Amino acid sequence: MRMILVGPPGAGKGTQAAKLIDTYKIPHISTGDMLRAAKKAGTEMGKKAAAFMDAGNLVPDEVVIGLVIDRIAESDCKEGFMLDGFPRTRPQAEALDAELTKAGVKLDVVLFIEVPDELIVDRITGRRSDPETGAIYHLQFNPPPADVAGRVVQRKDDTKEACVARLQKYHSETAPIIPFYEEHGLIRRVDGNAAPDEVTARIKAALA
Ligand code: ADP
Ligand code: ADP
Repeated sequence: MRMILVGPPGAGKGTQAAKLIDTYKIPHISTGDMLRAAKKAGTEMGKKAAAFMDAGNLVPDEVVIGLVIDRIAESDCKEGFMLDGFPRTRPQAEALDAELTKAGVKLDVVLFIEVPDELIVDRITGRRSDPETGAIYHLQFNPPPADVAGRVVQRKDDTKEACVARLQKYHSETAPIIPFYEEHGLIRRVDGNAAPDEVTARIKAALA
């Protein structure tokens, strides 16, 4: 299965991807995770991306497109992949489309997790992650277990200010990819405003 997870920052894309990969057995490709890894490793690309990310701006298309095209060409993506956080702009969607057409394969579904704007800031500012496992928690909605609580970290861009910037970018740059995929009949909408397990059940029903 070749699928895309799309939704505003904090919609629960990463949380749901972690719950879904066991079922669908495809690699989870998060451009946010890849860019953070490049930033941490101090690569040229990571250095270039850092300022954009910290301010809640999008990293330029040419950087992200190359990253994803190389990743989906790897052998573990032959039978499918779950893209999380890509495409995030119309040019990214078009570049992906061109690449898949060239490879003679098609997307199966674009899963759109919908969450109202007024819930986003609380979700983002309370987000924490376990640096050892990458697991995503929330101080209030999904607190880390006692043995993990002491080591969770907060992303640098999970401040209220950067979150508001990201939400604006989401509406101006990312939301326009929805009609693009709607034209291709690929969109499945899922209401993400429920407990995480309930959202997973809704996704599985939408994909069945
Ligand atoms: P969130 O979990 O809030 O949706 P991500 O982890 O997906 O955020 O992305 C974090 C940051 O990485 C973004 O704010 C942006 O700067 C950069 N980024 C990730 N994916 C893309 C992309 N497809 N295009 C441009 N920038 C991206
Ligand atoms: P995204 O990848 O779309 O940016 P995340 O999966 O990182 O979103 O989730 C953002 C924050 O919201 C995290 O702290 C996560 O624990 C929390 N969260 C995810 N799904 C839900 C949900 N259904 N209800 C409440 N909080 C959630």
